[in-house]
Amino acid sequence: MTLIDNIRKRILFRKKSITQSLEYAESIIDTVREPLISLDQDLRVVTVSRSFYEFFKVKPEDTVGQLIYDLGNKQWDIPKLRELLETILPQKTTFDNYEVEHDFAAIGRRVMLLNARQIKRKKGKERIILLAIEDITARKEMEQELKRLAYHDHLTGLPNRMLLIDRLSLALKQADRHRMKVALMMLDLDKFKEVNDSLGHHIGDKLLQAVAEKLTGILRKGDTVARFGGDEFILVLPEQKDAQNAIQVARKIIDAFRDAVVLEGHSLIVTSSIGIALYPDHGADIDIILKNADSAMYQAKQEGRNQYHVYNQESR
Ligand code: GH3
Ligand code: MG
Repeated sequence: MTLIDNIRKRILFRKKSITQSLEYAESIIDTVREPLISLDQDLRVVTVSRSFYEFFKVKPEDTVGQLIYDLGNKQWDIPKLRELLETILPQKTTFDNYEVEHDFAAIGRRVMLLNARQIKRKKGKERIILLAIEDITARKEMEQELKRLAYHDHLTGLPNRMLLIDRLSLALKQADRHRMKVALMMLDLDKFKEVNDSLGHHIGDKLLQAVAEKLTGILRKGDTVARFGGDEFILVLPEQKDAQNAIQVARKIIDAFRDAVVLEGHSLIVTSSIGIALYPDHGADIDIILKNADSAMYQAKQEGRNQYHVYNQESR
């Protein structure tokens, strides 16, 4: 065998082993369930996994060799992806759990976690970027739903006690910063037990839902109405100068409750008693304000129900 023959044979062998390693790499990429994409240093697609085509509904012939941003009619021109590939990766060779939310024309809005690896080849300056894409849309939706359930009352859909305390503490901080006040209104339905007793618990439930709707309709954006428990609701009006706004809202509520609510053929009139307390005038923290709004509400009950009472003042 001449020297030339020998070299030719070695080249052939090397070519074969390169092809084999490429095939090997591609078969690994195809086995991974999450979409995977590899890019060259100019951010052009070298290979993608089969799951990538299936998931993103792009065709192989429109993918390999394309600039990543141009994929699927430029659906991939995503500012956060540009930031990852052009700003973050040049400084860090790996980056995990990079969250990107994007509305794809073909598959709709998706939340993805990108794990990126930059592989430097031994010789030459070429680099390869590997991007693994995990679709966490369903997980995110589930998390949001759990959060919604944890922070809202199941019957009325209103914020529950936990969310109310959150909003209230935020409102108090804001009021301190802007030297303003916060009005807290505690509303309890009058003789609500009688509705349950005479028409049944499920009509009582429906009435609570109707009340929640009425209250929501009366409040302005930025105000909060929460179900505090039982037949008790709390309204928070942030950024107040004095009690005047809260008094107006209380009057509106009393007016709105004059109209009957018709439930399964029963025409019901429900009234309410409202206690109003002002932060910081009537208490320096949430507990005291709640306690004093409650005692103002109790006062309104004492003085005949269907009325409001401002803490430390006369009933109206
Ligand atoms: P008052 O004017 O003194 O407030 O009289 P009330 O009958 O409304 O008495 P109170 O506010 O103390 O009682 C509220 C009642 O609300 C007690 C309970 O049976 C009822 N209740 C609490 N939660 C629910 C609920 O989720 N659904 C229904 N249907 N009733 C509830
Ligand atoms: Mg009641």
